[in-house]
Amino acid sequence: MIVGHGIDAQMISHVADVAKRRPSFIDVILTPAELAVYNARKGKHQKEFLAGRFSIKEAYSKAIGTGIGTQARWQDIEVLPNEAGQPVMVKHPKQGEVNVHISISHTGDMVHSSVILETATSKITAPHQLDVIDQAVISTRRPAWIEVSASAIAHNITAVRHLTGTKRFIAIVKANAYGHGLTQVVLAAQKANVDGFGVATIDEAIWLREFGIDLPIFILGVTPATYAADLVKYQLIPVVTSEAWLDELINNMPQGKRLDVSIGVDTGMGRIGIRQKDELVRVVAQIIAHQQLSLKGIGMHFATADQKDTAYYQKQLQNWHDLVDDLTLPADVWYHMANSATTLWHEQPTLDTVRVGAAMYGFNPSGDELATDKLIAALSLKAALVHVKQVAAGTSVSYGATYTTSQPEWIGTLPIGYADGYARQLQGMYGLLPDGRRVEIIGRIAMDQLMVRLPEALPVGTVITLIGQAGQETITLEMLANRLGTIPYEAATSLAPRLPRKLVK
Ligand SMILES: *Cc1c(COP(=O)(O)O)cnc(C)c1O
Repeated sequence: MIVGHGIDAQMISHVADVAKRRPSFIDVILTPAELAVYNARKGKHQKEFLAGRFSIKEAYSKAIGTGIGTQARWQDIEVLPNEAGQPVMVKHPKQGEVNVHISISHTGDMVHSSVILETATSKITAPHQLDVIDQAVISTRRPAWIEVSASAIAHNITAVRHLTGTKRFIAIVKANAYGHGLTQVVLAAQKANVDGFGVATIDEAIWLREFGIDLPIFILGVTPATYAADLVKYQLIPVVTSEAWLDELINNMPQGKRLDVSIGVDTGMGRIGIRQKDELVRVVAQIIAHQQLSLKGIGMHFATADQKDTAYYQKQLQNWHDLVDDLTLPADVWYHMANSATTLWHEQPTLDTVRVGAAMYGFNPSGDELATDKLIAALSLKAALVHVKQVAAGTSVSYGATYTTSQPEWIGTLPIGYADGYARQLQGMYGLLPDGRRVEIIGRIAMDQLMVRLPEALPVGTVITLIGQAGQETITLEMLANRLGTIPYEAATSLAPRLPRKLVK
């Protein structure tokens, strides 16, 4: 937005005369860097340079609306030629607040200048600040969106609580809440009285704190111990995965500050955590003895809880008992072992705390290896028709012209594509009309758009459900995952940040 405009005109010979009569004038008007350029120029060019600087600084002071004086002093404004010889305002009083566009031109004995001030489109001026704003643009004005049901999330949390009898529920909201939308899910889960949150990274954890979450926040992945100060500042709970990591954390702890930690025990997942009894015993002792540390939790992760065969599950459980049972731990430690699959299909290894993601979102963590009827899917993916047309037989549709109509057809275009996480391999899948009728996706799915075959002329704006329920029909994340040869976790987390997430009832 333009917030200021100033113009000015000066007679070059007049400015030169003043400079000749009063040499100090030059030192008043020009900054030392400008003076150096001035001194390097000769004759007419020198006079033009001086008059140009005088004029452009006048124009600037008019653009900010004050005139040359306290708000804009001659020495606070600097205009130097760039490599191409074009004048550039390298210094001015409103730097950082506004972008400045300048022009200086000479005709005959006149110099004309103009300054336009524009509010800066970005407050980011230094490259190291870029990651702060380096996030996807959420396309809220395009009719393609995700709906997340708060009542489904609440239902699923209650279902898991009843099924397990767990004392505490940690809601796992890593990776933008499994693609469902962190803000939306956190609001819903908080309302459903969860006892804590779990995330993958320290950045996700900090985001939650800054969002206003006061509950315990467990970081499930390894946090570089060099970020101890941030862990302390935001009171986050890192996982202790080795004695070496704990030593490093202690070395990095800010003086006089306390921190809760949770121990990760590797009983067979083979990812992170302590595997040896002696190391575990030393780590526990060190945490308990350390004045600044408190042991908040201890946990493990099952690798096969979503499979019919329970042999490996039993082996992991036995390892846990061997490693942990005879440790003496503080009375208020949270024991957290169960992921979704454990809560749904196993006798509970502990009634203390569960760490649940998939089941809270209402998708089946096993894909379809094991059944559950306890959950309600929280996520819907919808888009509205933006273009509808009837085409003649023999008309090809989309890239590669892979689909050709065999009869006259009504074709609708949806403003969603593979860049939104609706994978290209879903060509041939279908969406649902509001009454539940299926509309097949025809032709290749493009980056931002796809086409469906309509049963009849339908109005632009008709909502098509790509995941979720319409009429008596439902398309599940599991169905898409099966088609893609992957798991519902990946199908959900592939949904792009570009899609707005709406929290619905
Ligand atoms: C992701 C994750 C969970 C949650 O798993 P779900 O199957 O979604 O319930 C629990 N614990 C750890 C360590 C995890 O990484």
